[in-house]
Amino acid sequence: MPPRIIIVGSGILGLSIALELQQRFQHRSPKSHPSITIISAELPSQPSEWIDDPQRRPSPDYASMWAGAHYRPIPGASPQLRLEGQWAMDTFRRMRRIARDTPEAGVRLMPGIEYLEDPPEEYCRLRTGDCYAGEDDEFRVLDRAELPEGVTWGCRYNTYSLNAPHYSRWLLDQFLAGGGRILHRKLARLEEAFTLSEDGSLPLVINCTGRNFDQDDKMRIIRGQTLLVRNKFDKTITRQNRDGSWIFLIPRPFAGTIIGGTKEPGDMEMKPRIETRRKLLEDCVRAFPEFVARLEDFEVVLDNVGRRPWRDGGVRLEKERIGEGKTVIHAYGAGGRGYELSWGIAQEVADLVLASERSKL
Ligand SMILES: Cc1cc2nc3c(=O)[nH]c(=O)nc-3n(C[C@H](O)[C@H](O)[C@H](O)COP(=O)(O)OP(=O)(O)OC[C@H]3O[C@@H](n4cnc5c(N)ncnc54)[C@H](O)[C@@H]3O)c2cc1C
Repeated sequence: MPPRIIIVGSGILGLSIALELQQRFQHRSPKSHPSITIISAELPSQPSEWIDDPQRRPSPDYASMWAGAHYRPIPGASPQLRLEGQWAMDTFRRMRRIARDTPEAGVRLMPGIEYLEDPPEEYCRLRTGDCYAGEDDEFRVLDRAELPEGVTWGCRYNTYSLNAPHYSRWLLDQFLAGGGRILHRKLARLEEAFTLSEDGSLPLVINCTGRNFDQDDKMRIIRGQTLLVRNKFDKTITRQNRDGSWIFLIPRPFAGTIIGGTKEPGDMEMKPRIETRRKLLEDCVRAFPEFVARLEDFEVVLDNVGRRPWRDGGVRLEKERIGEGKTVIHAYGAGGRGYELSWGIAQEVADLVLASERSKL
């Protein structure tokens, strides 16, 4: 059977969209069930494989392998933040189900804590009981007595974190078990995907390449360096300092804790910087002594460097005709939020696919 839907990219967006589509089509007879193929330059793998064989280490451009990843809402009233807020809440609902029903996926529910030294207006307007992360998030503004020194605003809410490479691999396994196909290949141009149909019919192509072949003027990268340590913690905490720097802890199911992290726009350095590692560990002891109180008590497993695919104006999620009968749905540019927006974006892409199908592409 020729591929009818081709998804280019197996990052968190490509994988979530692939599974969402399989679920939408599952009630159909095998004859009318479109085949779904993922074509990707890189595929999910796990740190246990890279540590033994550095050749298998994913490139920093494969952002999904380097994410923390936790869910931190971003309050704000701009149209972009409102749309992302809706995607994030849809994703939270789905992640709660995954955490409850399939713990082997590597998603865990836990408390989230925010500490801000210099909070913007939109944080100060929030009140205990508001809906911050999603339904039943038990959002609470912290009392002054609960705040660490230097922090002027803080909150506590229900959220989740996940083991990014493990969860991605789990999604891929679900996709394959559901009859999906994989082609491990790097494309020179998106148009190439249209030439891969076995009977000459044109597939619908979904562009989940993270950065769109660097063909979009609105795209930038934001370098992130973090550390995986074996030490364990039971909540995700983020502290935003007055000077714009951050320090955060993200429990990583089955593995330890991610300590982060940097946000370095346009910085293409691929290797971890030793001075950044040192600073992250020192800042961590200072900010979160309840996690690890002395530098010598850290058990470092891995340094991570990834490039967040950030897009001015937010994710590009739209349908485009690029030639006679050639339809592309773009879904890229998720910046630092790909995991926490993943199911919301996947649902919207699936709606576009079904609408395209009704209008015969
Ligand atoms: C340090 C760090 C921490 C982060 N923390 C969080 C977090 O806590 N929460 C959160 O939600 N997000 C976080 N993110 C952001 C998140 O990782 C990204 O938003 C997300 O991974 C983007 O996913 P994607 O599928 O769009 O792209 P990617 O993961 O980059 O995947 C792109 C895919 O396209 C393929 N591809 C690209 N070009 C081609 C080509 N020419 N031919 C074939 N295939 C191609 C690649 O091989 C890959 O499979 C973090 C990122 C970093 C770097």
